[in-house]
Amino acid sequence: DDRISRISSSIRLIPDFPKPGIMFQDITTMLLDPVAFRDTIDLFVERYKEKNISVVAGVEARGFIFGPPIALAIGAKFVPMRKPNKLPGAVISEEYSLEYGTDIMEMHVGAVQAGERTLVIDDLIATGGTLVAAIKLLERVGANVVECACVIELPDLKGRDRLGDKPLFVLVSSI
Ligand code: IMP
Repeated sequence: DDRISRISSSIRLIPDFPKPGIMFQDITTMLLDPVAFRDTIDLFVERYKEKNISVVAGVEARGFIFGPPIALAIGAKFVPMRKPNKLPGAVISEEYSLEYGTDIMEMHVGAVQAGERTLVIDDLIATGGTLVAAIKLLERVGANVVECACVIELPDLKGRDRLGDKPLFVLVSSI
């Protein structure tokens, strides 16, 4: 699919961000290319449009870029999974571990009903810890998390293994 190669080349690599030794995959350059951005959304929509998904859950911050256009196109609602103390209503929280320390993800109570078929979306999977936290939050309210989707996978970090038997769909693999 030549859409994939255009998407892949639209992603910029920035060495030593946010700290030395990290090669940061920057999707903001893809957003500057409307064809590549459109193709990215289309590829996800083609995969999920006939899957009876009623919830697209996007992980802050870049899941908020890709999630809403997919949700609109497949006729699902969009639910933001946010960093702590950002959501104004009652929330449920999940703590998860980072390379150094921990973080917390929050979701509004009542946003997702038990049994709803849910897609989780983020820009990138590294260790998988972020997606695992999102899955846990959603499953705590009884959601049926059908699949996780990311633009980019860093396969060396084996995040896919941490998801267990939860399917992961990605467009681009990177080193
Ligand atoms: P994980 O929890 O280790 O899988 O890390 C994934 C999270 O960190 C996602 O929310 C990503 O947006 C973010 N992240 C990690 N590395 C990168 C990167 O190189 N580019 C963009 N986001 C990244």
